[in-house]
Amino acid sequence: MTTDQSLVLRTYADAARTAHATLTALDQLSGDGDFGDNLREGLDRVTAALDAHPDRPPYAVAASVFLDEVGGTSGPLIGLLFQELARAHEAHSDERDAWRAGTGEGLAAIQRVGEAEPGDRTMVDALVPARDALEAGSGPREVALAALEGAHATAALRARRGRASYVGQRAVGFPDPGALGVALLFWSRARARKE
Ligand code: ADP
Ligand code: MG
Ligand code: MG
Repeated sequence: MTTDQSLVLRTYADAARTAHATLTALDQLSGDGDFGDNLREGLDRVTAALDAHPDRPPYAVAASVFLDEVGGTSGPLIGLLFQELARAHEAHSDERDAWRAGTGEGLAAIQRVGEAEPGDRTMVDALVPARDALEAGSGPREVALAALEGAHATAALRARRGRASYVGQRAVGFPDPGALGVALLFWSRARARKE
């Protein structure tokens, strides 16, 4: 079984385009409304960069785009996740091992920089269940489901990090846009997988 890295990223770009209006509306409730644009435009730049540089390692391409060019709090944080996924795919030939190591290291990097804990209503709340499922040896679909459930569960949380922490209860009942956006990466991985 293999997963084509560039197909994962192209699937993620399609998902971000489809989810754009929802992600925008969610970030309007809790933040400044730019998360849908940040993710969609970042991933459109990634697909353009993949077309221009088909020989470069795809997750490393995604990392440099998100670290250097994508704005918002989420841009550099998602860049760190791609950076660790790129490293882990270099180090591990087994795809599950690469995702387990890359997600674990990516989550650690995001927490070092952003200092969010689980339950703070951020992308960490999608990454922790994804990391746990990967550590338990789960396959791509179960991992994606864990990430999406983690994102969904942020609807019950009051934000303690990021702009959403300024608006108090207003966004309670709706999920955190960043958690949902990051869960879509795991969904894209599951979708792009060739048996
Ligand atoms: P901004 O609020 O700067 O416009 P974005 O809209 O690009 O940032 O991203 C918002 C998302 O970033 C939030 O939904 C949340 O998931 C995530 N986020 C915010 N602060 C943190 C943090 N400290 N650690 C992890 N994720 C965070
Ligand atoms: Mg925003
Ligand atoms: Mg912003």
